[in-house]
Amino acid sequence: MKDQLTALEAAAARAAAEANGELDLQQVRVRFLGKKGELTAIMKMMGALPAEQRPIVGALANEVKDRLEGLFNDRLESLRAAELQRRLAAERVDVTLPGRRLRQGSKHPVTQVTEEIVTIFASLGFGVAEGPEVEHDFYNFEALNIPRDHPARDMQDTFYVSEDVVLRTHTSPVQVRTMLKQAPPVRVVAPGTVYRRDSDITHSPMFHQIEGFLVDRHVTFGDLKGILTTFINEYFGAGTGVRFRPSFFPFTEPSAEVDIQCVICGGDGCRVCKNSGWLEILGSGMIDPEVFRAVGYDPEVYTGFAFGMGIERIAMLKYGVNDLRLFYENDLRFLRQF
Ligand SMILES: [Zn+2]
Repeated sequence: MKDQLTALEAAAARAAAEANGELDLQQVRVRFLGKKGELTAIMKMMGALPAEQRPIVGALANEVKDRLEGLFNDRLESLRAAELQRRLAAERVDVTLPGRRLRQGSKHPVTQVTEEIVTIFASLGFGVAEGPEVEHDFYNFEALNIPRDHPARDMQDTFYVSEDVVLRTHTSPVQVRTMLKQAPPVRVVAPGTVYRRDSDITHSPMFHQIEGFLVDRHVTFGDLKGILTTFINEYFGAGTGVRFRPSFFPFTEPSAEVDIQCVICGGDGCRVCKNSGWLEILGSGMIDPEVFRAVGYDPEVYTGFAFGMGIERIAMLKYGVNDLRLFYENDLRFLRQF
């Protein structure tokens, strides 16, 4: 029986050494030390031994069992260490590889164009004013010489919040608010969001305008032409053709729409300018005396001019964008081009 134990110990040690994984080793342990294992089987046969030999063989069997348990545990640890080394090697991170860069955001094209326009007018001595987007009828219409039932109200499809409160349809109410607060001379541009019930490829229910006005003694239509021509040459390039066309706005008299030579075809005629060679970019005029009366300026002493333009329209012309809605869809493929 002693020989059997010795042979068993040697076989178990060999099997443990050959085990090439934790699971393998577990099976070896069960095979030799399990309840139905080989060592148990030998110990069960001890009952057949003479009484004086049993303690000796029993002690020997326990020694073998202890040694094997120690051996299996050592083997388990070395298998685990080898597995760890293997994984460390396989999953090694190369810290010298360049990282993935975060893309830097940029300003929205509408913001960029607004800032460019404001910068040009600032260089001409204009300050910046802002006003509320939810506006009283008085500032949006009444004070701008657009009384109730005036046909001009139909020109601007208005969002009404209540009978007397609207979402402003233009930035012109800032003109009224500024003049009510400040005595002439004033020289201000007012960029901002405006709202109209209109939506198609060139109209959006929400868009941006920039308004500008200048009031002082002896301001003439010549000043209007000079300032706007300077702006156009600064923004669209020196020598850009400019044309003033008579027009009508309730809050200016006389009024003019301003065209520039088509920036796409250079004036030869194309689809964008409908073969006219000209593009309309802003409305302007001498501020109507009725507007001065509404804000308490003396129209006998002061004169002034005002102008307004759609910022998206300017951006579309400058960058050749053919669908206004692209500005609001937040498609990064579009926005990253600016
Ligand atoms: Zn053209």
